[in-house]
Amino acid sequence: MNMQQTTLFPHRQHHLMAVAQRPDCVMVGGDGHYLYDSADNAYLDFIQGWAVNCLGHNPPAMREALLQQADKLINAGPAFVNQPMLDLAGLLCRNSVFDEVFFANSGAEAVEGAIKLARRWGADYKGGAFGIITFNRAFHGRTLAAMSACGKPAFDALFEPKVSGFVRVPYNDLAATAEAITPDTAAIMLELVQGEAGVHPAEVEFVRGLERLCRQHNLLLIVDEVQTGIGRTGHAFGYQHYGITPDIMTLGKGLGGGVPITALLARHEVSCFHHGDQGGTYNGNPLMCALALAVVQEVLREEFLANVNTVGAYLRQQLELLSARYGLGEVRGRGLLVALDSGPLYAPEVMNAAHHRGLLINAPNDNTLRFMPALTVTAVEVDRMIAILGEVLAVLCQSEGGGNE
Ligand SMILES: *Cc1c(COP(=O)(O)O)cnc(C)c1O
Repeated sequence: MNMQQTTLFPHRQHHLMAVAQRPDCVMVGGDGHYLYDSADNAYLDFIQGWAVNCLGHNPPAMREALLQQADKLINAGPAFVNQPMLDLAGLLCRNSVFDEVFFANSGAEAVEGAIKLARRWGADYKGGAFGIITFNRAFHGRTLAAMSACGKPAFDALFEPKVSGFVRVPYNDLAATAEAITPDTAAIMLELVQGEAGVHPAEVEFVRGLERLCRQHNLLLIVDEVQTGIGRTGHAFGYQHYGITPDIMTLGKGLGGGVPITALLARHEVSCFHHGDQGGTYNGNPLMCALALAVVQEVLREEFLANVNTVGAYLRQQLELLSARYGLGEVRGRGLLVALDSGPLYAPEVMNAAHHRGLLINAPNDNTLRFMPALTVTAVEVDRMIAILGEVLAVLCQSEGGGNE
């Protein structure tokens, strides 16, 4: 595919803060697995807003829910309960081990809520314990407390002083975790697949061991499922792969299918906020709750999750063939959260070359390519993606003198 020239805004002549390096195109439309820019280029989208658009771009179910709810009530205010908020909380709790929900607007805000809830619980039930054990390479968001909980090396020097009370240990290392527990510890918080770090799943024995440690030492187990929740890994929630019962869970990304709504869930015994501890202008607003309700109802269907598993397995198999052909590294992941180690290639360069051929994939670090298509993706799109990525790799491997074609 030959891309149209897309220099649609001259450098530095827009009014957006420069928070990231972004390509020189303006996105104007979306339809299912494709995103369109203002020069009429189509992109096969295996990023989907960073694993957010779980039903793809502009799904009819969301459009319908948006129009219906906009006719009824857009915002009642957080001082009132509204019907979509009740319905969504009920649906999430009936399908998980949790009993109560607080809705927020970003993943980081849901994580902040989890940190606050753990501190409230520690203050009320564990003699003032406040410490939270987190893991190297973890990603929990960009508010100050969430950044303080991260194990992303690039964050270490930023915005000092950080929020205190976090202790970080190596991921998948149960002995190191046990050693880090003190009388001040209130909780252990982890991602069940470290997504931003490059798609590293937690081992079953490790996660079961964490649950055991939490029960032995009276600690809360917090799972940050902002990326792994809502069907992404092939179960409704990632913790279901492990047969554990966490105390607190955060959801985000896929929950809203593209619109900003996230959630903090807790089991009844630990859901202990006092009035005034937690809130926010937009929490549980009916428009976003109605959209999330439409998304979650779709994702929880058995055939829907079955598709995530079968197409996920097919995607990993096809990536393994490609990796063997071009001498790249391992394929990791679960369901439709998948990564390919780019071996000798510089992953951001592969990502940029793919973009120029009309394929959107993500490079969370220098040697990882990440694939997060809509959960409705089929073998047709996987084949198309593999064909484009194959062309990109053929060119790059030739110019590096690598590859074994
Ligand atoms: C993306 C992500 C967050 C942050 O979510 P935002 O909506 O960007 O604030 C937190 N935790 C995990 C595991 C994530 O993947």
